[in-house]
Amino acid sequence: MGENEVISGDRKGGAKPKAFSDDEHAWHLFRTLRWKDDICCLYCECDQVKRHSKRGGGIQYYRCKACGKNFTDATGTIFHRLRIPLSKVFYFAHLLNVGTPVNRIHKRLGIAKSAAFRLAKKLRTSSWYDEITTLLEREKATGNITARQR
Ligand SMILES: [Zn+2]
Repeated sequence: MGENEVISGDRKGGAKPKAFSDDEHAWHLFRTLRWKDDICCLYCECDQVKRHSKRGGGIQYYRCKACGKNFTDATGTIFHRLRIPLSKVFYFAHLLNVGTPVNRIHKRLGIAKSAAFRLAKKLRTSSWYDEITTLLEREKATGNITARQR
């Protein structure tokens, strides 16, 4: 393994955590942080929430049975209506967290430079940043990896 690469094998799609390439899994992880065990309505705080379908690569839609409003896993967070898939955003957050310069991240992930700087700022100032990067570290450490599963 190359020690200079932050994550070895990423160019070949090798030993990279699932969370960095699989949107379904990335949303699943985000749900474990956001909702823990209880989903409650963002508008009326009722816990009678019905799950709708999943869309856009794994984002879950919900409808509150009490007030009838709809929301998603991302409503009210920085992940709402992002143009970049969540797994890529997670990879971005991870690279940022381990000190990779945004100038390199944007090339590596194929994101426009200006969009990358905006996303970096959004992530760093978000209350989710620490929780997400901690969770991603754990994903890496526990070997929840696409290519080399135990
Ligand atoms: Zn409600």
